[in-house]
Amino acid sequence: MNNSDKLLIEADLHCHSLASSHAYSTVMENAAEAKKAGLKVFALTDHAMGMPDSPHKWHFHNLAAIPQQIDGVTVLRGVEADIMNYYGDIDMEKEDLKCIQWAVASCHSPCITPGSIDDNTKAYINAVKKNPVIDVIGHCTTVTGEVDFERIAKLCKEYNVFAELNESSLCFGRSSKENCIALLNACKKYEAYIVVNTDCHYAGIIGRTEHSSRLIDEIGFPKKLIFNTDAERVLEYVSKKHGIKLTGKNDVKDDDKTDQSPAVKNRR
Ligand SMILES: [Zn+2]
Ligand SMILES: [Zn+2]
Repeated sequence: MNNSDKLLIEADLHCHSLASSHAYSTVMENAAEAKKAGLKVFALTDHAMGMPDSPHKWHFHNLAAIPQQIDGVTVLRGVEADIMNYYGDIDMEKEDLKCIQWAVASCHSPCITPGSIDDNTKAYINAVKKNPVIDVIGHCTTVTGEVDFERIAKLCKEYNVFAELNESSLCFGRSSKENCIALLNACKKYEAYIVVNTDCHYAGIIGRTEHSSRLIDEIGFPKKLIFNTDAERVLEYVSKKHGIKLTGKNDVKDDDKTDQSPAVKNRR
């Protein structure tokens, strides 16, 4: 992709680093590529402890070690939590969430066995109801865990969370085009916001959402419902929801001193 091509999004809110060993880039590489692509914000959302090759929980306790901005790009300290059962339990304890500014919650086969459409849908619904930290319902369009998209869209609207159109999942065939279209149509019907994320496991694709963009154009999904086309709007939401001061300006206030758990301080 040419660097001058306009990105659909200003904030890529689902990105992995090599803290998850099936991902291949460092935080610095993600930040550099984000800047090169023209992103203003990215969320570092490595896999939580339910995944076999996830980092130790200290990875999440110590996220405040990463500057809030790297070379002008705001880095949200996040997680991709695993939904562990149909009751909606996730693999992040209260103490693991202290530094978290952005939480994606997803179903992955090592953590939950796909069931009926009703089971799979309830897993997301219960997770959102039980865990107010959740911001995004991650890749619920996967072919291995079908859900009721109407209920997901209603959930997003009611609980002010975002359904994700996941570029990697679509592009690598883990999500079907039909499911993505069904999700988009349901969100359009209920006027629920979505986020379009790369779920990059390699820095070179951060911010680049060609497959998703094509689909959005194809079905005429309203751009105003794509929440992360506006970085400032994302930062305002994060500031309010997670009680931290963030702006897109260069004078971002870093709350490193106030949001660390005692465990993190003691390890310094
Ligand atoms: Zn992954
Ligand atoms: Zn995932």
